[in-house]
Amino acid sequence: MINPADLRLEGALALLEHDRSACLPDAAKSATAFLQSVIDSLCELSLTDALTGLANRRHFRNVLSREIDVVARSGDSALLLMLDIDHFKQINDVHGHSVGDKVIQAIARCLSSCVRPMDTVARYGGEEFAVILPCCQTLYGQIVAERIRQSVAALRIEASDDLELNVTISIGGAFAPEWGRSTAALWIDLADAQLYCAKTEGRNRVMLDAAQEISVSAEEKSLLFGHLNQRDGACPERNNNDTPAKTSTAIQRTGPLSH
Ligand code: GH3
Ligand code: MG
Ligand code: MG
Repeated sequence: MINPADLRLEGALALLEHDRSACLPDAAKSATAFLQSVIDSLCELSLTDALTGLANRRHFRNVLSREIDVVARSGDSALLLMLDIDHFKQINDVHGHSVGDKVIQAIARCLSSCVRPMDTVARYGGEEFAVILPCCQTLYGQIVAERIRQSVAALRIEASDDLELNVTISIGGAFAPEWGRSTAALWIDLADAQLYCAKTEGRNRVMLDAAQEISVSAEEKSLLFGHLNQRDGACPERNNNDTPAKTSTAIQRTGPLSH
């Protein structure tokens, strides 16, 4: 049986001491429970961004790779959003780095509040974030991304007693490439290219990848066009077999915000 006192744990325990969420059991009572807890807490720490508490880039990469496997097996559609704060350098330059940090933290909280528990919000780097949305129907991609953009734009960030800031973000997105087995790098590149477009088009906007043709499932079709069929039996598209309808851009509709 390993005795924790025989191990060199000072470094690990010093790290965990600064992490308020790590609460270790008494080593004297159960060495196993104590060591397990140290390991779990270190794993948690290695996956978490220190400034925001969001998933860090390592965690993001793991989740994205796993999601690619899920998509390949299940055929579900999954959405990746890359988000970047607009003109963030100005905030640092005008108000200082610590105010910039507060803005990053406020946006991190806002993003977390906008998505489902099954989604992963990560700090990708600096003032860039990423959101992975598994099982996100193509129909809702634009709606979800737009909701996130608007939530950030509406945010009043209290940077200090007499300073309230308002910032915007640009969002680029891509659904998991469905042809064959994709890679995390390719998926990120697709979303990143859209983020670049959102920036060059003027910022504070959402651009989703339309290069891959979006398949509209039978369920989505009935949501979109069911009322037309009921009214006059009209079919908006001459597509009587079960092949998916193709559209070159994300479909926007008002309606339920769940996805
Ligand atoms: P754009 O709209 O094109 O994205 O412009 P921008 O000013 O947001 O982009 P740019 O890449 O020029 O500047 C990003 C800045 O983010 C520069 C960097 O110093 C700052 N930054 C990166 N990480 C942090 C951080 O952790 N805290 C703070 N306060 N600033 C950071
Ligand atoms: Mg940036
Ligand atoms: Mg920026």
